[in-house]
Amino acid sequence: MSHTRSYYANSITDIPEYPQLRDRIKCDVCIIGAGFSGLSSALHLCEAGYDVVVLEGCKVGFGATGRNGGQVVNSYSRDVDVIEKRYDSTTANTLCSMIFEGGDIIRDIIKRYDVDCDYKVGGVFAALNQKQLKGLQQHKRDWERFGNSQLELLDANELSRALGTTQYVGGLLDKRGGHIHPLKLALGEAKAIESLGGRIFEQSKVISMEKRHSPVVKTELGEVQARYVVIAGNAYLGQLAPKISNKAIPCGTQVIATEPLSASLLETILPSDYCVEDCNYLLDYFRLTADKRLLFGGGVVYGARDPQNIEALVRPKMEKVFPQLQGIKVDYTWTGNFLLTYSRMPQFGVHEDNFYYLQGYSGHGVTCSHLAGKLLTESLSGHSNRFNAFASLKHYAFPGGRHLQIPLTALGAAYYNIRDKLAV
Ligand SMILES: Cc1cc2nc3c(=O)[nH]c(=O)nc-3n(C[C@H](O)[C@H](O)[C@H](O)COP(=O)(O)OP(=O)(O)OC[C@H]3O[C@@H](n4cnc5c(N)ncnc54)[C@H](O)[C@@H]3O)c2cc1C
Repeated sequence: MSHTRSYYANSITDIPEYPQLRDRIKCDVCIIGAGFSGLSSALHLCEAGYDVVVLEGCKVGFGATGRNGGQVVNSYSRDVDVIEKRYDSTTANTLCSMIFEGGDIIRDIIKRYDVDCDYKVGGVFAALNQKQLKGLQQHKRDWERFGNSQLELLDANELSRALGTTQYVGGLLDKRGGHIHPLKLALGEAKAIESLGGRIFEQSKVISMEKRHSPVVKTELGEVQARYVVIAGNAYLGQLAPKISNKAIPCGTQVIATEPLSASLLETILPSDYCVEDCNYLLDYFRLTADKRLLFGGGVVYGARDPQNIEALVRPKMEKVFPQLQGIKVDYTWTGNFLLTYSRMPQFGVHEDNFYYLQGYSGHGVTCSHLAGKLLTESLSGHSNRFNAFASLKHYAFPGGRHLQIPLTALGAAYYNIRDKLAV
């Protein structure tokens, strides 16, 4: 299996090949899945001196990691206001104090391992109406309470100058946010893991896991015996561990990338080079690539069925934000799956002894998956209070059971979508 045809996979000429597992081997920690959750775990564990094996069913970055919008968006999919209402104060404080840490981890990796992944500074949360703008003002106050002083509110005029669109009534600029070429970052992390002695195997799908005196995972042609296993298959995990995958539902989201924009178009489109996500429940997200294409994502398909015509779905959203792009050629379209949880908080935990899992970032996983790997390493090294703040969160299945949970969730989203349109 190779990468999906995306701008990302097509913009790298020398994607490395890692071997397939064809032996029986041993290690300290065996990680299932080479997305950001698995790679961040592997990198942090290697740095801490663990002997690590990563098993990837397809290619490094094959899943959401190699297909996403590339937005280094800080925060989880639920924020301070909800977290403080829902959880006890110790848990809430611990969770909220980590909101911006994932982005710092990414910058640190880029710097220490000299990863060229087109990193650009600056991310904007853009409000389409006054209600959303009030929400952003509240976010700023909340985030500042946890020491984050890099946030700046922009009014409609300032935002229009920065983004080249008059769609928004205002926004919040996060100078610790930004954007990356996610597949280049994933490949850079894989290289760093190898440089520290970690072993990565591709085309090595895990088909079974069992607990003997220690965990054993099997692929079609090989077997790994480990002290710990980390399950990081996220929306691509399938039925390997139903107790874990049944805690959330896979959802698809679609992305298009235009042809490189002309110099005259570039004067009017994202002159700031910030990345942007709007504040709708079903949100749009966009940014420029290093070779000056507009990469625009939006929409959600609950249950992760692949839509027939991605361009027909996404182009109207893009042309609404940037009417000057009407009729522009779209060179790439693709879809990818993320994992949605009922609480919208990520799910980290221990499944039976020695089997850890990290998943369910609910659409905001670039930074949080990096945090996940760091917290897992802390936990295995005996400092588990930050990992446990996540692991203690209760997770409920979506209502409706196996047959109705997807239509019911889609119905709920349609309701919130209408509210967004009516700005109520
Ligand atoms: C189109 C799209 C746009 C997004 N945009 C953004 C964004 O701009 N910003 C943001 O913060 N978040 C974004 N997200 C979410 C973010 O990309 C994910 O949350 C994050 O990449 C999850 O990483 P992961 O490693 O947990 O999962 P994945 O990247 O999905 O990795 C899981 C890996 O596990 C492998 N695997 C599964 N089962 C097995 C098995 N049995 N054996 C071996 N390997 C297995 C898969 O092949 C896959 O490579 C987006 C998601 C999508 C789909």
